[in-house]
Amino acid sequence: MCDECGCEERNRVVEVGEDILKENLRYAAHNRQHLDEHGVFSVELISAPGSGKTSLIEALSDHLAGVGMAVIEGDIETARDAERIRAKGIPAFQLTTGGACHLDARLVHGAFHHLPLNGVRLLFIENVGNLVCPAAFQLGAHQRWVILSVPEGDDKPAKYPRAFREASVFILNKTDLLSHMEFDLERVKSEALSLNPYLRFFAVSARTGQGIPELAEYTKGLLKPLPSAGA
Ligand code: MG
Repeated sequence: MCDECGCEERNRVVEVGEDILKENLRYAAHNRQHLDEHGVFSVELISAPGSGKTSLIEALSDHLAGVGMAVIEGDIETARDAERIRAKGIPAFQLTTGGACHLDARLVHGAFHHLPLNGVRLLFIENVGNLVCPAAFQLGAHQRWVILSVPEGDDKPAKYPRAFREASVFILNKTDLLSHMEFDLERVKSEALSLNPYLRFFAVSARTGQGIPELAEYTKGLLKPLPSAGA
């Protein structure tokens, strides 16, 4: 019951919200099982719009040739990001939420019906650009990477703590702009690590390629080894 006016509405809203999250977790567990059965390691990318999620996938793909990549793109509208990925020769499926501010596990489950995983070892799932809502919805990916770009400012981790607390990797993108902006790299890094000491930190520029080889090497280390010939 609502403490303020005694109505039942608040509890009802909370219960509906809990049901949605429970249902999402059920689909997320199913997605993880599906990925594991196919030997696919999956990484979810979250960030604000324009931080460079798609550009990062494009830049990484140049260092991950032969790995067996696929991408699920999430956006409110348009297939622009999936088209960019396909132009790199990488299979991609575009999910459009039609207004919703985040992907959910059920949507991702639906994408599996359109994106064959045979031969895929690394699946990126790019969420809708938003640092808030995507943080609350697990998709079944093995890791979540949170991306912040230099123009967004060095004060963001503490303002969006859940995004950083529940990520495995923190990528600072657009480091080529550091010399043009007032941005304290050590501040942003230490603030993020104070929220989540287990974060792996990478400073990169998807545009110039700075730091991308190191991130690609880390990514390769996450993947299952290729089956040896004759195995
Ligand atoms: Mg994008």
